[in-house]
Amino acid sequence: MAEAEKLWLGFDLGGTKMCAHVFDDAFKVLGFQKRKTKAQEGMEATLQRIFQTIREALDSAGASPEQLAGIGMGCPGPVDHNRGVLLSATNMGWTNVQLKKILEAEFKCPAAVLNDVDAGVFGEYCFGAGKNAHCLLGVFPGTGIGGGCVYRGDIFTGANRSVMEIGHLQMMADGPQCGCGRRGCLEALASRMAIAVAAAGAAQRGAAPWLLKNAGTDVAAIRSNILADSIKNGDRAVEDIIRQAARWIGVAVSNAVNLLGPDIVVLGGGLVEAMPTLFKNEVAEVAAARVMPPFVGTFKVAAAKLGDRATAQGAAAWARQQISGQSR
Ligand SMILES: [Zn+2]
Repeated sequence: MAEAEKLWLGFDLGGTKMCAHVFDDAFKVLGFQKRKTKAQEGMEATLQRIFQTIREALDSAGASPEQLAGIGMGCPGPVDHNRGVLLSATNMGWTNVQLKKILEAEFKCPAAVLNDVDAGVFGEYCFGAGKNAHCLLGVFPGTGIGGGCVYRGDIFTGANRSVMEIGHLQMMADGPQCGCGRRGCLEALASRMAIAVAAAGAAQRGAAPWLLKNAGTDVAAIRSNILADSIKNGDRAVEDIIRQAARWIGVAVSNAVNLLGPDIVVLGGGLVEAMPTLFKNEVAEVAAARVMPPFVGTFKVAAAKLGDRATAQGAAAWARQQISGQSR
């Protein structure tokens, strides 16, 4: 590889696993590495695992740290993107971590730090399902429900923090308890966690025989692919639960459309990857029926295209935009 070639590193820091992708300046993947986060071993140990993962990704690309033009890191929590600080990551026990400074000191290159869903949505804007959108709204149902918005080529943020917490839109007065401490949030009604709890209940009642036989009633074992298989194998109760969850997401999307007027709504994350048609159709139908009438027909609902790579690739692309002022 030519010494002069600019390389970008995209990092996806998750509560359970982390991964690093090395990209050339045309955003072709040159190298990759992943490992478990193991946040329970403490922050210093996790930082060392991050450094090691980045070095090994560079090794797998046959590249050295000196070739890095920049690092972009997507993080599992609200971020102050101006200072590059991860404000909090509850599932890792981290608060106010100066990741930009830490990465720049270790790798001697500029770094940009942003929220992981923002990064994923920016990835879909640059390379995936939302290319060239004027306003792209991304909704990623998973363990929680993340949201992000790219408006006129940049990530929509507050003055000094990530926003677009669509998972915490208030859907139901005195509804179920949400992980954020409030009640009745979208996430408490329609995340994979909420779906898995309801599906486990159906299995226990004898209403979902395939699920009971193949996954039991352990909520942690009821992953997105198991849910999709349960529907394919005739568990009607599970299908009803998931369609209802998708319809709640449709209601939330209709509210977001009234506020933001996106031209495209991209749905992503594990649940949507496992059941893209179900989610796309339910969300599109409910959103069309609920938006203020002038908005009907003004937006498209599409499934994300980048899969697992969205956050790392979007983080690297955003780093390039911040560092070199080059958008694509
Ligand atoms: Zn909430």
